[in-house]
Amino acid sequence: DGGRRPDYLSGLNPEQTEAVETLEGPVLVLAGAGTGKTRVLTTRIAHILNTGRAFPSQILAVTFTNKAAREMKERIAVLVGGAVEGMPWLGTFHSIGVKLLRRHAELVNLRSDFTILDTDDVVRLIKQLIQAEGLDDKRWPAKQFAGMIDGWKNKGLGPGDIPEGDARTFANGKGRELYFAYQQRLSTLNACDFGDLLMHPIAIFRKNPDLLKEYHGRFRYILVDEYQDTNTAQYMWLRLLAQRPKGEPQNVCCVGDDDQSIYGWRGAEVDNILRFEKDFPGAKVIKLERNYRSTAHILGAAGHLIAHNEGRLGKTLFTDRSDPDDIKVQVHASWDSEVEAREIGEEIEQLQRGDANGKRHLLNDMAILVRASFQMREFEDRFVTLGLNYRVIGGPRFYERLEIRDAMAYFRLVAQPADDLAFERIINTPKRGLGDTTVRALHDYARARDIPMLAAAADMIETDELKPKARKALFDVVQSFRRWQEMLENTPHTELAEQILEESGYTDMWKNDKSADAPTRLENLKELIRSMESFESMRGFLEHVALVMDAEQNENLDAVSIMTLHSAKGLEFDTVFLPGWEEGLFPHQRSLDESGRAGLEEERRLAYVGITRAKRRCHIWFVSNRRIHGLWQSTIPSRFLDELPEMHVEVAEAEQSYGGYGRGGYGQSRFDKADPFANSYSTPGWKRAQQNKTDATRDNWGTRSGHAVERIGYGESGPRSRTIDGE
Ligand code: ATP
Ligand code: MG
Repeated sequence: DGGRRPDYLSGLNPEQTEAVETLEGPVLVLAGAGTGKTRVLTTRIAHILNTGRAFPSQILAVTFTNKAAREMKERIAVLVGGAVEGMPWLGTFHSIGVKLLRRHAELVNLRSDFTILDTDDVVRLIKQLIQAEGLDDKRWPAKQFAGMIDGWKNKGLGPGDIPEGDARTFANGKGRELYFAYQQRLSTLNACDFGDLLMHPIAIFRKNPDLLKEYHGRFRYILVDEYQDTNTAQYMWLRLLAQRPKGEPQNVCCVGDDDQSIYGWRGAEVDNILRFEKDFPGAKVIKLERNYRSTAHILGAAGHLIAHNEGRLGKTLFTDRSDPDDIKVQVHASWDSEVEAREIGEEIEQLQRGDANGKRHLLNDMAILVRASFQMREFEDRFVTLGLNYRVIGGPRFYERLEIRDAMAYFRLVAQPADDLAFERIINTPKRGLGDTTVRALHDYARARDIPMLAAAADMIETDELKPKARKALFDVVQSFRRWQEMLENTPHTELAEQILEESGYTDMWKNDKSADAPTRLENLKELIRSMESFESMRGFLEHVALVMDAEQNENLDAVSIMTLHSAKGLEFDTVFLPGWEEGLFPHQRSLDESGRAGLEEERRLAYVGITRAKRRCHIWFVSNRRIHGLWQSTIPSRFLDELPEMHVEVAEAEQSYGGYGRGGYGQSRFDKADPFANSYSTPGWKRAQQNKTDATRDNWGTRSGHAVERIGYGESGPRSRTIDGE
């Protein structure tokens, strides 16, 4: 149009410009990490608004997390020079789904004030239905069925659509009936679950073509980020909205990277990328190949690693960033996870003081990305000791997790019998038939006499104020606490802690739990016990945790980010630390067990995501000893380390690491075995260290590719919970 090009377009490369300016017709941007896909989407929206092609309310834009949505809004505001008046349809699939459903609830027999049930509610409801069918809810666990329903909904399958075979596998073939009954019940309760936030809008659009047409008119432009991780239901939803009758504009733009598809375990279908070109014939496919984020070393390392995957769509990536100061990806070996946390802490403090060039770094520019959430504990503890600010992203901090809070409540009550909050938390966890009535009676009794509730309990079991069943249950609890309190002085506190969790039935509660996150919780409980080892006593430990919990979590504070690899998607940091690169942990044993080769490839993509979060510095760590199922075990460095190209990687020599991973730094005789690194401080390469290790441990573990690896099995962890945010 001959006018001046707006500023926001001037920084883009030709392919990016094409992706921004091709506003008419379907566009698929398929490109590697850090090539500016998200930037393209943001600029595209700014361009649409700036050229007056649509109002903010006429743009439908889907991001993977709510955080990403907020950031995108802020960026758009900067680009168009001023606050954007509302972008009501910019959000995650779920948040947009809620909005649609509130508007049209009556079309699926809900009222617009419907409630959204969380996982616990859903399980409770299903359990009632199973019992109502006269089925044994032990044999047919509600949690398992909740998982099945979720899986069906991810695939866009309602009760009438599920394949015969699938439905038969549950409840003597009553799976489908139960699914029907469940939906019926939700409707009666004026409620829906997470899956319904997509399923209902799909049903609404299918049954009401006129309404769909209205939305076709409203949404002039549709954009989707992280497209490779959409599941089938999301794709169906998207296609309904984006696919228009002949002659009408189909302005849909999806951006993604098949190498970053990491939610297969939750139903994501990377094949949606291929379907796009089929469903939107004539789609313009744009490839971006220039990476703006990372140094050549980081890109080289990531590219070489991901090349080990088969079945990729195949892309090239290059950068013309080259700086004589660029450093290779650093691989570090530590003795165990405690040393690992200490060394990473030292590295961080060193960067704060100034790097090799004297440049000081902000904590905000650093992140630690773990494979399994239990790994966070060691870092949180260490950083509190150092007084180093950190924030946990995408989930609760370690000591804030439900199972940890429960366990801590037991320990607190043993150490401090007057702790009524702790008492109330665990008195009926696990379930002992001590419900609200009993608790209220105890409460009243305690109040009237101004004594702690545990003391009230001890009194009340002598009276006949309680029903016999509750009295018996309470008697057992009181006895147990008496015993544990006696043990407090002369039993090693870790042993006592383990015993408390066993005898109280708390561990069993999670062992019998069929939900997907139960294994992670058990793993966290083990980590909790392990974390007590470095303290003298139970009281010392409890004090420490109180301090950790008190540590400030302030958004505006300069702080290191700690998160799982899964929640790091789309983000970038100057310096990235990747701890725990050991077989069994990463690649994670569960992925290998459950999904074999496909599981391994998804783990490798996760490694690729991890490395490509780094702009300038990427540090990978592995340890030679990790505690697995309560026992110290020799570990084997991750196969992914082997897959890194030597030209882009170097081994960080122990002597050079600041303050050293000094001899005697780790507790001396805790491991009465030879230090595998004794001879490798100055040898070139982790391969050597690894070779020593492999030789040293061959007797125990066999060869790397053999069963050895299976026996290491962590088998339990990973991000399985989910929020409306989509992560
Ligand atoms: P990921 O696959 O990890 O989500 P992405 O493809 O979405 O990555 P962006 O996050 O959009 O990549 O961009 C990566 C970095 O490169 C950002 O810091 C972005 O600002 C920068 N960048 C992108 N394009 C350009 C450009 N043309 N000029 C300068 N910087 C750019
Ligand atoms: Mg992105």
